Amino acid sequence: MDLAFGLNLQSVEEGSSTGYDVIVVGGGPAGVTAAIYTSRAGLKTLVIDKGLTAGALGITGKIANYPGILEEVSGAELLERMRTQAKSFGAEFVSNKVIGVDLLSEDKTIFGNNGNYTARSLIIATGSMGRGTRVKGEDELLGHGVSYCATCDAAFFRDQEVAVAGNSDEAIEEGFILTKFVKKVHFLSPTLSLKAPQHLVDELIANPKIILYPGAGLREIIGNNRVEAVRFEVRGKSEQTITVGGAFVYLQGSKPITDFLQGQIEINENGCLVVDREYQTAIPGVFAVGDVLCNHVKQAVIAAAEGAVAGIAVEKVLHGRKQMVVDWTK
Ligand SMILES: Cc1cc2nc3c(=O)[nH]c(=O)nc-3n(C[C@H](O)[C@H](O)[C@H](O)COP(=O)(O)OP(=O)(O)OC[C@H]3O[C@@H](n4cnc5c(N)ncnc54)[C@H](O)[C@@H]3O)c2cc1C
Repeated sequence: MDLAFGLNLQSVEEGSSTGYDVIVVGGGPAGVTAAIYTSRAGLKTLVIDKGLTAGALGITGKIANYPGILEEVSGAELLERMRTQAKSFGAEFVSNKVIGVDLLSEDKTIFGNNGNYTARSLIIATGSMGRGTRVKGEDELLGHGVSYCATCDAAFFRDQEVAVAGNSDEAIEEGFILTKFVKKVHFLSPTLSLKAPQHLVDELIANPKIILYPGAGLREIIGNNRVEAVRFEVRGKSEQTITVGGAFVYLQGSKPITDFLQGQIEINENGCLVVDREYQTAIPGVFAVGDVLCNHVKQAVIAAAEGAVAGIAVEKVLHGRKQMVVDWTK
Protein backbone atom coordinates (compact mmCIF):
# COMPACT_ATOMS: atom_id res chain seq x y z
CA MET A 1 0.00 0.00 0.00
CA ASP A 2 2.73 2.26 -1.07
CA LEU A 3 1.03 5.18 -2.77
CA ALA A 4 -0.47 7.81 -0.55
CA PHE A 5 -2.18 10.18 -2.94
CA GLY A 6 -5.29 10.30 -5.05
CA LEU A 7 -5.94 9.83 -8.73
CA ASN A 8 -7.06 13.39 -9.33
CA LEU A 9 -8.02 12.74 -12.96
CA GLN A 10 -9.72 15.77 -14.45
CA SER A 11 -12.46 13.71 -16.05
CA VAL A 12 -14.62 14.44 -19.05
CA GLU A 13 -18.21 13.25 -18.91
CA GLU A 14 -19.02 9.62 -19.60
CA GLY A 15 -20.48 8.94 -23.02
CA SER A 16 -19.38 10.01 -26.46
CA SER A 17 -16.94 12.90 -26.82
CA THR A 18 -16.01 14.15 -30.26
CA GLY A 19 -13.97 16.91 -31.81
CA TYR A 20 -10.53 16.24 -30.37
CA ASP A 21 -7.43 16.93 -32.46
CA VAL A 22 -5.48 14.23 -30.66
CA ILE A 23 -6.42 11.28 -28.51
CA VAL A 24 -3.66 9.62 -26.55
CA VAL A 25 -4.43 6.11 -25.31
CA GLY A 26 -2.28 5.47 -22.26
CA GLY A 27 -1.34 7.95 -19.55
CA GLY A 28 2.19 6.73 -18.77
CA PRO A 29 5.33 8.83 -19.41
CA ALA A 30 5.14 8.24 -23.18
CA GLY A 31 1.49 9.27 -23.56
CA VAL A 32 1.56 12.14 -21.08
CA THR A 33 4.69 13.66 -22.61
CA ALA A 34 3.05 13.50 -26.04
CA ALA A 35 0.02 15.26 -24.51
CA ILE A 36 2.26 17.97 -23.01
CA TYR A 37 3.60 18.75 -26.49
CA THR A 38 0.26 18.56 -28.35
CA SER A 39 -1.72 20.58 -25.81
CA ARG A 40 1.04 23.17 -25.57
CA ALA A 41 0.86 23.44 -29.37
CA GLY A 42 -2.82 24.36 -29.01
CA LEU A 43 -4.23 21.00 -30.09
CA LYS A 44 -7.37 19.81 -28.28
CA THR A 45 -5.97 16.75 -26.53
CA LEU A 46 -7.60 13.93 -24.59
CA VAL A 47 -5.66 11.28 -22.67
CA ILE A 48 -7.58 8.06 -21.98
CA ASP A 49 -6.08 5.92 -19.25
CA LYS A 50 -7.39 2.87 -17.40
CA GLY A 51 -5.53 3.44 -14.13
CA LEU A 52 -2.60 5.26 -12.59
CA THR A 53 -1.15 2.01 -11.22
CA ALA A 54 -2.02 -0.16 -14.25
CA GLY A 55 1.18 0.87 -16.07
CA ALA A 56 4.91 0.27 -15.57
CA LEU A 57 5.80 3.69 -14.15
CA GLY A 58 2.69 3.74 -11.95
CA ILE A 59 3.78 0.58 -10.10
CA THR A 60 7.42 1.58 -9.72
CA GLY A 61 8.25 2.11 -6.06
CA LYS A 62 11.10 4.61 -6.39
CA ILE A 63 12.59 6.43 -9.37
CA ALA A 64 16.20 7.53 -8.97
CA ASN A 65 17.37 8.06 -12.55
CA TYR A 66 14.82 10.40 -14.13
CA PRO A 67 16.65 13.60 -15.14
CA GLY A 68 15.94 16.56 -12.90
CA ILE A 69 14.32 14.53 -10.11
CA LEU A 70 16.79 14.48 -7.24
CA GLU A 71 14.53 13.67 -4.31
CA GLU A 72 13.02 10.26 -3.57
CA VAL A 73 9.85 9.98 -5.58
CA SER A 74 7.60 7.05 -6.49
CA GLY A 75 6.75 6.32 -10.12
CA ALA A 76 3.10 7.20 -9.52
CA GLU A 77 4.06 10.55 -7.99
CA LEU A 78 6.31 11.36 -10.95
CA LEU A 79 3.43 10.44 -13.25
CA GLU A 80 1.04 12.68 -11.31
CA ARG A 81 3.47 15.58 -11.79
CA MET A 82 3.62 14.90 -15.54
CA ARG A 83 -0.18 14.76 -15.70
CA THR A 84 -0.50 18.02 -13.78
CA GLN A 85 1.87 19.62 -16.30
CA ALA A 86 -0.17 18.31 -19.26
CA LYS A 87 -3.41 19.58 -17.66
CA SER A 88 -1.82 23.00 -17.15
CA PHE A 89 -1.50 23.24 -20.95
CA GLY A 90 -5.15 22.20 -21.42
CA ALA A 91 -4.95 18.43 -21.91
CA GLU A 92 -8.01 16.59 -20.63
CA PHE A 93 -7.86 13.19 -18.91
CA VAL A 94 -10.52 10.52 -18.67
CA SER A 95 -10.42 7.27 -16.73
CA ASN A 96 -11.55 4.54 -19.11
CA LYS A 97 -10.25 1.29 -20.60
CA VAL A 98 -9.99 1.30 -24.38
CA ILE A 99 -11.36 -1.91 -25.87
CA GLY A 100 -11.52 -1.13 -29.59
CA VAL A 101 -10.77 1.38 -32.35
CA ASP A 102 -11.96 2.28 -35.84
CA LEU A 103 -9.02 3.71 -37.75
CA LEU A 104 -10.43 3.39 -41.25
CA SER A 105 -12.30 6.73 -41.40
CA GLU A 106 -10.57 10.10 -41.50
CA ASP A 107 -11.64 10.74 -37.91
CA LYS A 108 -10.42 7.95 -35.64
CA THR A 109 -12.96 6.46 -33.23
CA ILE A 110 -11.85 5.05 -29.90
CA PHE A 111 -14.22 2.72 -28.03
CA GLY A 112 -13.96 2.60 -24.23
CA ASN A 113 -15.73 0.56 -21.55
CA ASN A 114 -17.88 3.56 -20.67
CA GLY A 115 -17.70 5.97 -23.58
CA ASN A 116 -16.53 6.48 -27.16
CA TYR A 117 -14.38 9.30 -28.51
CA THR A 118 -13.28 10.66 -31.88
CA ALA A 119 -10.21 12.62 -32.93
CA ARG A 120 -8.26 13.57 -36.03
CA SER A 121 -5.19 11.71 -34.81
CA LEU A 122 -4.27 8.99 -32.34
CA ILE A 123 -1.20 8.27 -30.24
CA ILE A 124 -0.97 4.73 -28.86
CA ALA A 125 1.01 4.61 -25.60
CA THR A 126 -0.39 1.63 -23.75
CA GLY A 127 2.94 0.18 -22.59
CA SER A 128 3.85 -3.46 -22.19
CA MET A 129 2.01 -4.70 -19.14
CA GLY A 130 -0.27 -6.92 -21.22
CA ARG A 131 -0.71 -10.59 -20.44
CA GLY A 132 0.45 -13.37 -22.70
CA THR A 133 -0.24 -16.42 -20.59
CA ARG A 134 -3.63 -17.06 -19.10
CA VAL A 135 -4.49 -19.10 -16.04
CA LYS A 136 -6.00 -22.53 -16.53
CA GLY A 137 -9.66 -22.32 -17.53
CA GLU A 138 -9.57 -18.59 -18.37
CA ASP A 139 -9.75 -18.88 -22.17
CA GLU A 140 -12.31 -21.68 -22.12
CA LEU A 141 -14.66 -19.78 -19.80
CA LEU A 142 -14.20 -16.31 -21.31
CA GLY A 143 -17.71 -14.95 -21.86
CA HIS A 144 -19.09 -17.73 -19.65
CA GLY A 145 -18.37 -16.07 -16.34
CA VAL A 146 -14.83 -14.86 -17.07
CA SER A 147 -14.75 -11.14 -17.83
CA TYR A 148 -12.27 -8.26 -18.10
CA CYS A 149 -14.91 -5.55 -17.73
CA ALA A 150 -17.12 -5.08 -14.67
CA THR A 151 -18.65 -1.95 -16.19
CA CYS A 152 -19.93 -4.08 -19.07
CA ASP A 153 -20.84 -7.32 -17.28
CA ALA A 154 -21.49 -6.69 -13.56
CA ALA A 155 -25.29 -6.71 -13.97
CA PHE A 156 -25.17 -10.33 -15.20
CA PHE A 157 -23.90 -11.40 -11.77
CA ARG A 158 -26.65 -9.88 -9.62
CA ASP A 159 -26.78 -11.43 -6.11
CA GLN A 160 -23.93 -13.85 -6.87
CA GLU A 161 -20.46 -14.18 -5.37
CA VAL A 162 -17.60 -13.30 -7.75
CA ALA A 163 -13.79 -13.16 -7.71
CA VAL A 164 -11.64 -10.22 -8.81
CA ALA A 165 -7.94 -10.92 -9.50
CA GLY A 166 -5.57 -7.94 -9.58
CA ASN A 167 -3.81 -5.32 -7.46
CA SER A 168 -4.04 -2.04 -9.42
CA ASP A 169 -6.43 0.87 -9.07
CA GLU A 170 -8.17 -0.48 -12.18
CA ALA A 171 -8.92 -3.76 -10.37
CA ILE A 172 -10.16 -1.94 -7.26
CA GLU A 173 -12.45 0.43 -9.20
CA GLU A 174 -13.89 -2.54 -11.07
CA GLY A 175 -14.45 -4.30 -7.72
CA PHE A 176 -16.44 -1.28 -6.50
CA ILE A 177 -18.66 -1.42 -9.59
CA LEU A 178 -19.33 -5.09 -8.90
CA THR A 179 -20.46 -4.40 -5.31
CA LYS A 180 -23.46 -2.49 -6.66
CA PHE A 181 -24.80 -5.76 -8.10
CA VAL A 182 -23.24 -8.82 -6.49
CA LYS A 183 -23.57 -10.35 -3.03
CA LYS A 184 -19.83 -10.67 -2.36
CA VAL A 185 -16.51 -9.89 -4.09
CA HIS A 186 -13.52 -12.14 -3.27
CA PHE A 187 -10.59 -9.84 -4.13
CA LEU A 188 -7.44 -11.84 -4.93
CA SER A 189 -4.36 -9.60 -4.89
CA PRO A 190 -1.24 -11.32 -6.28
CA THR A 191 0.93 -9.10 -4.06
CA LEU A 192 0.76 -8.71 -0.29
CA SER A 193 0.16 -4.96 -0.63
CA LEU A 194 -2.09 -3.39 -3.23
CA LYS A 195 -0.38 -1.15 -5.81
CA ALA A 196 -2.96 1.59 -5.61
CA PRO A 197 -3.59 4.96 -3.97
CA GLN A 198 -4.15 4.61 -0.21
CA HIS A 199 -7.65 6.10 -0.25
CA LEU A 200 -8.77 3.38 -2.67
CA VAL A 201 -7.15 0.67 -0.55
CA ASP A 202 -8.88 2.03 2.59
CA GLU A 203 -12.23 2.11 0.77
CA LEU A 204 -11.72 -1.46 -0.41
CA ILE A 205 -10.90 -2.74 3.09
CA ALA A 206 -13.89 -0.90 4.57
CA ASN A 207 -16.36 -2.23 1.99
CA PRO A 208 -18.52 -4.88 3.71
CA LYS A 209 -19.11 -6.69 0.40
CA ILE A 210 -15.39 -7.17 -0.36
CA ILE A 211 -13.11 -9.81 1.15
CA LEU A 212 -9.42 -9.12 0.45
CA TYR A 213 -6.96 -12.03 0.05
CA PRO A 214 -3.44 -10.45 0.06
CA GLY A 215 -0.76 -12.44 -1.79
CA ALA A 216 -3.29 -14.69 -3.53
CA GLY A 217 -2.07 -16.12 -6.83
CA LEU A 218 -4.93 -17.21 -9.08
CA ARG A 219 -4.16 -20.73 -10.34
CA GLU A 220 -7.34 -21.90 -12.08
CA ILE A 221 -10.84 -20.84 -13.02
CA ILE A 222 -12.99 -23.93 -12.68
CA GLY A 223 -16.28 -24.66 -14.42
CA ASN A 224 -18.15 -26.82 -16.86
CA ASN A 225 -19.44 -24.35 -19.53
CA ARG A 226 -19.83 -21.71 -16.77
CA VAL A 227 -17.57 -20.40 -13.98
CA GLU A 228 -18.21 -22.38 -10.80
CA ALA A 229 -15.12 -21.71 -8.65
CA VAL A 230 -11.60 -20.28 -8.51
CA ARG A 231 -8.52 -22.02 -7.16
CA PHE A 232 -5.76 -19.85 -5.72
CA GLU A 233 -2.70 -20.07 -3.52
CA VAL A 234 -1.96 -17.62 -0.75
CA ARG A 235 1.78 -17.25 -0.16
CA GLY A 236 3.06 -19.68 2.42
CA LYS A 237 -0.33 -21.34 2.83
CA SER A 238 -2.08 -24.23 1.11
CA GLU A 239 -4.31 -23.79 -1.94
CA GLN A 240 -7.94 -22.78 -1.56
CA THR A 241 -10.95 -23.15 -3.81
CA ILE A 242 -13.97 -20.89 -3.42
CA THR A 243 -17.33 -21.12 -5.17
CA VAL A 244 -18.06 -18.11 -7.41
CA GLY A 245 -20.30 -17.39 -10.38
CA GLY A 246 -17.84 -15.02 -12.09
CA ALA A 247 -14.13 -14.23 -12.34
CA PHE A 248 -12.99 -10.70 -13.26
CA VAL A 249 -9.31 -10.71 -14.21
CA TYR A 250 -7.06 -7.59 -14.10
CA LEU A 251 -3.62 -9.18 -13.80
CA GLN A 252 -0.54 -7.71 -15.47
CA GLY A 253 2.20 -9.30 -17.58
CA SER A 254 4.98 -8.06 -19.84
CA LYS A 255 3.55 -8.07 -23.36
CA PRO A 256 2.81 -4.94 -25.47
CA ILE A 257 -0.86 -3.99 -25.06
CA THR A 258 -2.19 -3.98 -28.63
CA ASP A 259 -5.24 -6.26 -28.43
CA PHE A 260 -7.67 -3.33 -28.66
CA LEU A 261 -6.28 -2.49 -32.14
CA GLN A 262 -7.89 -5.68 -33.48
CA GLY A 263 -5.33 -6.10 -36.26
CA GLN A 264 -5.96 -2.66 -37.81
CA ILE A 265 -2.26 -1.70 -37.57
CA GLU A 266 0.67 -3.70 -38.88
CA ILE A 267 2.37 -5.85 -36.26
CA ASN A 268 5.63 -7.61 -37.18
CA GLU A 269 6.57 -11.25 -36.65
CA ASN A 270 7.79 -10.44 -33.11
CA GLY A 271 4.40 -9.03 -32.15
CA CYS A 272 5.63 -5.42 -32.25
CA LEU A 273 3.96 -2.39 -33.83
CA VAL A 274 5.78 -1.03 -36.88
CA VAL A 275 6.50 2.74 -36.90
CA ASP A 276 8.71 5.17 -38.81
CA ARG A 277 11.38 7.44 -37.34
CA GLU A 278 8.77 9.85 -36.03
CA TYR A 279 6.73 7.02 -34.51
CA GLN A 280 3.96 7.15 -37.12
CA THR A 281 2.39 3.82 -38.11
CA ALA A 282 1.39 2.95 -41.68
CA ILE A 283 -1.94 4.72 -41.00
CA PRO A 284 -1.46 8.50 -41.43
CA GLY A 285 -2.14 10.35 -38.18
CA VAL A 286 -1.77 7.24 -36.02
CA PHE A 287 1.37 7.09 -33.88
CA ALA A 288 2.75 4.65 -31.29
CA VAL A 289 5.32 5.42 -28.58
CA GLY A 290 6.93 3.99 -25.47
CA ASP A 291 7.13 0.42 -24.22
CA VAL A 292 4.29 -0.69 -26.49
CA LEU A 293 6.94 -0.65 -29.25
CA CYS A 294 8.96 -3.53 -27.70
CA ASN A 295 11.77 -1.08 -27.00
CA HIS A 296 15.11 -2.64 -26.23
CA VAL A 297 15.71 -0.07 -23.47
CA LYS A 298 12.66 0.23 -21.29
CA GLN A 299 13.13 3.41 -19.29
CA ALA A 300 10.80 6.28 -18.42
CA VAL A 301 13.07 8.87 -20.02
CA ILE A 302 13.09 6.96 -23.34
CA ALA A 303 9.30 6.64 -23.31
CA ALA A 304 8.95 10.36 -22.56
CA ALA A 305 11.38 11.27 -25.36
CA GLU A 306 9.43 9.23 -27.89
CA GLY A 307 6.24 10.92 -26.74
CA ALA A 308 7.86 14.30 -27.38
CA VAL A 309 8.90 13.36 -30.93
CA ALA A 310 5.43 12.02 -31.74
CA GLY A 311 3.72 15.04 -30.16
CA ILE A 312 5.70 17.39 -32.38
CA ALA A 313 5.10 15.22 -35.47
CA VAL A 314 1.32 15.11 -34.85
CA GLU A 315 1.18 18.88 -34.77
CA LYS A 316 2.91 19.06 -38.16
CA VAL A 317 0.65 16.39 -39.69
CA LEU A 318 -2.52 18.12 -38.48
CA HIS A 319 -1.40 21.53 -39.65
CA GLY A 320 -0.44 20.12 -43.04
CA ARG A 321 3.17 21.15 -42.72
CA LYS A 322 6.03 19.11 -44.03
CA GLN A 323 7.04 16.41 -41.60
CA MET A 324 10.01 17.21 -39.43
CA VAL A 325 12.90 15.24 -40.85
CA VAL A 326 15.25 13.84 -38.27
CA ASP A 327 18.45 12.23 -39.47
CA TRP A 328 19.31 9.89 -36.61
CA THR A 329 22.64 9.00 -38.18
CA LYS A 330 24.11 12.44 -37.52
C1 LIG B 1 8.99 -2.56 -11.67
C2 LIG B 1 9.52 -1.57 -12.67
C3 LIG B 1 10.50 -0.68 -12.27
C4 LIG B 1 11.01 0.27 -13.19
N1 LIG B 1 11.96 1.17 -12.78
C5 LIG B 1 12.38 2.14 -13.61
C6 LIG B 1 13.29 3.15 -13.19
O1 LIG B 1 13.78 3.12 -12.05
N2 LIG B 1 13.64 4.12 -14.06
C7 LIG B 1 13.14 4.18 -15.34
O2 LIG B 1 13.46 5.10 -16.08
N3 LIG B 1 12.27 3.24 -15.77
C8 LIG B 1 11.86 2.22 -14.96
N4 LIG B 1 10.99 1.27 -15.40
C9 LIG B 1 10.54 1.30 -16.81
C10 LIG B 1 9.52 2.39 -17.07
O3 LIG B 1 8.56 2.37 -16.03
C11 LIG B 1 8.85 2.15 -18.41
O4 LIG B 1 9.83 2.05 -19.42
C12 LIG B 1 7.90 3.29 -18.76
O5 LIG B 1 6.93 3.45 -17.74
C13 LIG B 1 7.19 3.05 -20.09
O6 LIG B 1 6.29 4.09 -20.29
P1 LIG B 1 4.97 3.91 -21.19
O7 LIG B 1 4.26 5.22 -21.09
O8 LIG B 1 5.36 3.40 -22.53
O9 LIG B 1 4.13 2.74 -20.49
P2 LIG B 1 3.47 2.63 -19.06
O10 LIG B 1 4.23 3.38 -18.03
O11 LIG B 1 3.28 1.16 -18.84
O12 LIG B 1 2.06 3.35 -19.22
C14 LIG B 1 1.05 2.79 -20.02
C15 LIG B 1 -0.28 3.38 -19.62
O13 LIG B 1 -1.28 2.88 -20.52
C16 LIG B 1 -2.47 2.61 -19.81
N5 LIG B 1 -3.23 1.61 -20.57
C17 LIG B 1 -2.82 0.37 -20.96
N6 LIG B 1 -3.80 -0.24 -21.66
C18 LIG B 1 -4.83 0.63 -21.72
C19 LIG B 1 -6.12 0.58 -22.33
N7 LIG B 1 -6.53 -0.51 -23.01
N8 LIG B 1 -6.95 1.63 -22.18
C20 LIG B 1 -6.54 2.74 -21.50
N9 LIG B 1 -5.32 2.84 -20.90
C21 LIG B 1 -4.48 1.80 -21.04
C22 LIG B 1 -2.01 2.13 -18.43
O14 LIG B 1 -3.01 2.40 -17.47
C23 LIG B 1 -0.75 2.98 -18.21
O15 LIG B 1 -1.03 4.13 -17.45
C24 LIG B 1 10.49 0.31 -14.52
C25 LIG B 1 9.49 -0.59 -14.90
C26 LIG B 1 9.01 -1.52 -14.00
C27 LIG B 1 7.92 -2.49 -14.42
